[in-house]
Amino acid sequence: MEPRELERYRALLEAKEAELVEALRRRDGIAIEKAADALDEVRLAADRELMIHTLDRESLRLREVRAALARIEEGAYGVCLGCEQPIPTKRLDAVPWAAYCVRCQEAVDAQRAAETGGSLLETLLEEPV
Ligand SMILES: [Zn+2]
Repeated sequence: MEPRELERYRALLEAKEAELVEALRRRDGIAIEKAADALDEVRLAADRELMIHTLDRESLRLREVRAALARIEEGAYGVCLGCEQPIPTKRLDAVPWAAYCVRCQEAVDAQRAAETGGSLLETLLEEPV
């Protein structure tokens, strides 16, 4: 990959990293609110659940972004970790932190879903990459 291209992705990744760090900082310390009644309690529990889910996703994404920045440093950026083929520019433009080509990513996702016992539907509901 040309150095100019690489710098463009580095800038994208650094912007994403800053955005995620900020988002995670804002959610730091999930408030344990005291519910007034049982119905509120259910609602608050659901809110917390959702927030924890979002937090999980954001910290995972942050790890992916940082790993991609590390690959830029190592000169390994834009190469699939699975098949070691170049990841198409079109995919990197959409997902600059992509570590796998689409084919390998699908295999990794399926593997992960199987390991965590997560349903395929849940995997499909993840934002498209
Ligand atoms: Zn691959």
